[in-house]
Amino acid sequence: MTRMIRVFDTTLRDGEQSPGASMNVEEKIMVAKQLARLGVDIIEAGFAYSSPGDFEAVRRIAQEVEGPTICSLARARPEDIDRAWEALKGAPKVRIHTFLSTSDIHLKHQFRMTRDEAKKRAVEMVQRARGYVEDVEFSPMDASRSDPAYLYEVIEAVIAAGAGTINIPDTVGYAVPQEFGRLIRGIREQVPNSAQAVISVHCHNDLGLAVGNSLAAVFEGAGQVECTINGIGERAGNTALEEIVMGLRTRKDFYQADTRIRTEEISKTSRLVSKITGMVVQPNKAIVGANAFAHTSGIHQDGLLKDKTTYEIMRPETLGIVWRMGSWLPALGRKGTGSRPQRSTTLLQVVGN
Ligand code: MN
Repeated sequence: MTRMIRVFDTTLRDGEQSPGASMNVEEKIMVAKQLARLGVDIIEAGFAYSSPGDFEAVRRIAQEVEGPTICSLARARPEDIDRAWEALKGAPKVRIHTFLSTSDIHLKHQFRMTRDEAKKRAVEMVQRARGYVEDVEFSPMDASRSDPAYLYEVIEAVIAAGAGTINIPDTVGYAVPQEFGRLIRGIREQVPNSAQAVISVHCHNDLGLAVGNSLAAVFEGAGQVECTINGIGERAGNTALEEIVMGLRTRKDFYQADTRIRTEEISKTSRLVSKITGMVVQPNKAIVGANAFAHTSGIHQDGLLKDKTTYEIMRPETLGIVWRMGSWLPALGRKGTGSRPQRSTTLLQVVGN
């Protein structure tokens, strides 16, 4: 049976932390509306406490964008949780996402808390958030560098306190797929109440492994992935939404998992985010790069002319792009159903580029 994986988009929060990628409130609303058309399950609209601009963006997106659950990030501090609620209140589908580190490195050097103090704080803040909303997510920051035994203890305690989603961040992009998958399996096996929560993952791409780690986590039972359009985000970025979504869609046979994303909106969303943030998409980027569907090898072209499945694992039309004016461009019209050109023309023009 195919499991449906929730897509939690953090383009407007972690993505916006990319150097030079800041967006104003109107731009964020535009992106959020497109994310709703794309069909993401949750939009992390910002970090309400962090600035008046973020507060306003969260508030307006929660009020104006229909479909997805709208989420605000909040540190595990009362004033952050309260501010997140102020931004979200009155909106139909909302979530508070609170976080606190569980790694000794962070607790000792950054938070100056003991393990017991951190666990107690995490529980109190989840309870405080649950006093406002039903839907609470907790992230043990730097989970991939935490002592698993302590991590599992904290997870058990915050689930008991009412967190419905437990997000496991590889905050510094240190994890590798087999190990990260094992960590997720460990949560399912070692945390007695883990079945009461959705296990989520939030990966960074410092070693180029964000998507690989996320897929390994889904394989081991994760039910939510956090990601951004074009993989933008802090440092080397986050899991790219288009890659994790197409990875699952294309290899559903292996993962037995899929998402509710309307893939025909992927190309359009990628271009909108690139334009607004000024973050250029590299030409050889998987799924949304300009060359992602350009075949130049004569042998490959020969095969494609005979049958597309010889060298094409995904159809460009699936992503809402069609061949126009000498390159792959978003389909005109809402549905992305533009027809594909004569194959021979396509191939010859691609070679010419
Ligand atoms: Mn992050």
